[in-house]
Amino acid sequence: MTLSNDPIDLRSDTVTRPSPAMRAMMAAAPVGDDQYGEDPSVNRLQARIADLLGKEAALFVPSGTMANQIAVKVLTRPGEEIVVAEEAHMMWHEAGAAAANSGVQFCVAGQGGRFSAEEFRAAVKPRGHIVFPPTALVAVENTHNLGGGIVFPQADAVAICAAAREAGIASYLDGARLFNASVASGRKPAELAAPFDLASVALSKGLGCPVGSVLAGRKALIAEAVTARRRFGGAMRQSGILAAAGLYALDHNIGRLADDHANARLIAERIAGIGGVVLDLATVETNIVIFRLAPDMPDAAAVVAAAKAEGILISALGPRTVRAVTHLDVGREACRRAGEVLAAIIARG
Ligand SMILES: *Cc1c(COP(=O)(O)O)cnc(C)c1O
Repeated sequence: MTLSNDPIDLRSDTVTRPSPAMRAMMAAAPVGDDQYGEDPSVNRLQARIADLLGKEAALFVPSGTMANQIAVKVLTRPGEEIVVAEEAHMMWHEAGAAAANSGVQFCVAGQGGRFSAEEFRAAVKPRGHIVFPPTALVAVENTHNLGGGIVFPQADAVAICAAAREAGIASYLDGARLFNASVASGRKPAELAAPFDLASVALSKGLGCPVGSVLAGRKALIAEAVTARRRFGGAMRQSGILAAAGLYALDHNIGRLADDHANARLIAERIAGIGGVVLDLATVETNIVIFRLAPDMPDAAAVVAAAKAEGILISALGPRTVRAVTHLDVGREACRRAGEVLAAIIARG
């Protein structure tokens, strides 16, 4: 619950708190020991997400990072390489987990979170070469967080995965914000996930749940993922209490993501024209606003501190890069106010 004197928290869409209705569903959830396959709420959530993503099976995991790390573990061997877009979450925000857990390295393709099939092919290193690390996996982030929440062009995803399959390379969709991509593009989650061997979605971002991600794919791959989850220590017991939040969110919190997108747009449009702000409105397709401060402006830390003093919480992603993320705990009025405050701070330079 947000009280009126609470700050307007736009640091991330992970800061949401479960609503009373979500909590009620969690409290009432039928549960069992999931390690015996006996948690009806987990089983229901997994079946629903598998269906939504058009995959044979799905697996509930504690976090998006674990979903990514299980995918990497299942689809690569040590010494191999993963092709990702610039600033991929997997490469920048998982504490080196892919190297630590699976012994793999990354190769970056394209710019700003996107890459084409041609750029993918150029990044691929063949198996059997005397010096190259063989490319085992290509991972696409949709939406792309550090790219400003952009929707990955579906035609590129289809072409990249087709090229990967032809080359014997696996494909993975990091869909922590796939429902945002779906709502923004008007494409069903199953269509967005279709080209990929494995796909994940987060429940703890825009959907407003306290915990959880779900990984989906063919039965045989999900069976391997079950083992990897156990190895990573992510196998849970009466996790139906958490899965119930996901079931609630699937029914109530997807369509409303359009409001978050409109609110991000409102903030972006308020500040985009101001001198010293570098912000391409074309990148504001969903619930994330990333802008850069020109060299003659205060730096990101100064803008974040000034905003905080006025009750607006945002993040400094880099020395001159600022991010604001909208979500279900900040309404239209709060976002209008955030836009006004940011505009005033930036205009005073
Ligand atoms: C947040 C995020 C993750 C990781 O999710 P956690 O639940 O925080 O571990 C993975 N990928 C992307 C694109 C994300 O934004």
